Amino acid sequence: MKDTFTHQGLRKKLVEVLKKKGIVSKAVLTAINKIPRHLFMDSSFIDHAYVDKAFPIAADQTISQPYTVARQTELLDVKTGDIVLEIGTGSGYQTAVLLELGLTVCSIERQNELFKKTKLFLPKLGYRPKKLIFGDGYIGHKAEAPFDGIIVTAGAPFVPKPLLAQLKVGAKLVIPVGDEAQIMTVFTRTSETDFDKEEFGEFRFVPLLENKN
Ligand code: SAH
Repeated sequence: MKDTFTHQGLRKKLVEVLKKKGIVSKAVLTAINKIPRHLFMDSSFIDHAYVDKAFPIAADQTISQPYTVARQTELLDVKTGDIVLEIGTGSGYQTAVLLELGLTVCSIERQNELFKKTKLFLPKLGYRPKKLIFGDGYIGHKAEAPFDGIIVTAGAPFVPKPLLAQLKVGAKLVIPVGDEAQIMTVFTRTSETDFDKEEFGEFRFVPLLENKN
């Protein structure tokens, strides 16, 4: 588990790339500059860790592209101390970004292999989410709801109602919606009964799986 000057140098360059692509949040850029992304990937992919691309991890899943992680985190629009729910823990990289922002994080993963691996790995880097849950993200996590923000890191064929229901008034659900390609969609809860919807362009994610296990 080494983080060398070479890795740190590559990370600085990645941050510059993300700035050029339009990421402006200082907190997000600082987090990406700090987190050793190469350690979240299998060792054979170390050379690719600091290019702005998604890569395969275990169980046929991917670690999201850094730009996507940065953009989704910006759109979540949260502040230190807020409690957030992540759907799709995967490698734990996005989880680490949320923790670097000083958030209280609950994260759900439905692939047992990844869940177990990431649960062991994150504390080794000093990252301690409030809860890592092995389960189905479609139902959210009622026990810790309502949340100040919910971020879905897999492509959802539709918007799961429980996720909207688990937002505080004023909070946002950031969710890529669609089958082949997804539209990054942000729902803001404006009252107990009302939601605003905004769209932020096309992205590509692995699918948010239904009815598995
Ligand atoms: N945030 C991750 C992205 C991983 S890819 C990262 O930074 O690495 C999306 C993840 O969502 C995969 O790990 C996949 O197993 C998980 N997933 C898919 N369907 C899910 C569901 N219904 N509930 C919870 N997690 C799910």
